[in-house]
Amino acid sequence: MHEECGVFGAYGLASAAERTAIALYALQHRGQEGCGIATYDEKSAAIHMVKNLGQVKDVFGPKDFLALPGDKAVGHVRYSTTGGNLPRNTQPMLAGTREGTLALVHNGNLSNAAALREALEAKGLIFQTDSDTEVIAYLLAGELIRTKDIVAALQAAMGQMEGSYSLVMLLGGTMLAVRDPFGMRPLCMGEVDGNPVFASESCAISAVRGRFVRDLRPGEIVRVQDGKLDAFLGGKRSSGALCIFEHIYFARPDSVIDGQSVYEARLRAGRIAAESHPVEADLVVGVPNSGLIAAIGYAEGSGIPYGEAFVMNRYVGRTFIEPTQEMRALKVGLKLSVLRQAVAGKRLVMVEDSLVRATTTDQVVALLKRAGATEVHVRICAPPFLYPCYFGTDVPSRELLASVRWSNEELTRHIGADSLRFLPLERLGEIAPNSALGFCEGCFSGQYPYGPPGLRGQGAAVPPHAPRKEAANLAHGTHPPFSSAL
Ligand code: SF4
Repeated sequence: MHEECGVFGAYGLASAAERTAIALYALQHRGQEGCGIATYDEKSAAIHMVKNLGQVKDVFGPKDFLALPGDKAVGHVRYSTTGGNLPRNTQPMLAGTREGTLALVHNGNLSNAAALREALEAKGLIFQTDSDTEVIAYLLAGELIRTKDIVAALQAAMGQMEGSYSLVMLLGGTMLAVRDPFGMRPLCMGEVDGNPVFASESCAISAVRGRFVRDLRPGEIVRVQDGKLDAFLGGKRSSGALCIFEHIYFARPDSVIDGQSVYEARLRAGRIAAESHPVEADLVVGVPNSGLIAAIGYAEGSGIPYGEAFVMNRYVGRTFIEPTQEMRALKVGLKLSVLRQAVAGKRLVMVEDSLVRATTTDQVVALLKRAGATEVHVRICAPPFLYPCYFGTDVPSRELLASVRWSNEELTRHIGADSLRFLPLERLGEIAPNSALGFCEGCFSGQYPYGPPGLRGQGAAVPPHAPRKEAANLAHGTHPPFSSAL
């Protein structure tokens, strides 16, 4: 499963484009299909941009940084869940507005994008892309004509947008960072040499040798203008509904989101799985990479030793291999090979972060058994996927979800395991006790912070978990300058 994107913004920094590229390397796990950087240069009073399909290492070379002057930059890595994998859908997205050129980067997915697009098209706007980020750009451009103020325009646009969005943008020399009213996608700010930076994950702030300051609150708009930082409330305040899958799979384990370490959340998921579904075994192994930390947690919780079972070939990447059953088996073997000496003759607990379609789990179990494992007990550190996601995660349609297609017994047989157990849904929130926000668990529970598209107001409007710590209050109006707000 993939997530949509990662965003970064740097204000007032020497070599802003280069530093943004470094931050994008740190966010590459959030999207590998395309990337881009836009800078604002005071001398030419213009936005400059380089973007293309491919990873950061493929898109940016030394010459590109010469084409990106200025000390303010926004950057993006993309995985497409809406809009095809086309150069025109890569970001930053530029839009001409009455107040200047807007350069926008977006992580998330508007669940009411189709309705908003239709309304904008009815007003005569012609879209260049099929991405929902362009919907946000046009919505903002329209509100800017009315309000002539970017914060007021954002507040008006946020009143119309439903879904997940973490945004960073440049409008001339002004930088804005915005988190949707449920805080569904992460967005935090830090400082580098006293200058503000914004990032999808704190690991990107560390990558540019910055200092993490705080997460943006749900519905918060932060504006940096003339070197001064102000914060505003942009939408209805909520206790938050961060996508729980950030902790299970998406985010890098060295990131901290809303006060919760991702690494510790994965360890806890493993410990809870051990408590909930114990089994007699000789060794706990994790499926690389995202199952490894949870496997350590399972080993700690169960008292069964942890061991390495797999060697991962990091150089395979995308292959030409066709998705037939036989070819899939070969591909899994190409990416993962088993340390026979570690597993032969042993009863194993195999820990995975999640199970979506189960198209490769059977192959991984088969690899372990061929290497001599006598039993393989699969423990999934997430509940069964039962529902789609409308917020920018490519959870497949319901009929493709393994836990919808098969009963637990059938699925156990299908993957060739000796037992299969999932993290209990009622314990899912326990993996992140330090989170300042509540969670969206919609793909597991069917309860979403917004109703499904086309059913405005009819869905579950309440996030399933209350925040573990009350998010700090945020009043309308001006916060202290950045230096004193740190
Ligand atoms: S539905 Fe699932 S994947 Fe989508 S935002 Fe909610 S928790 Fe995340």
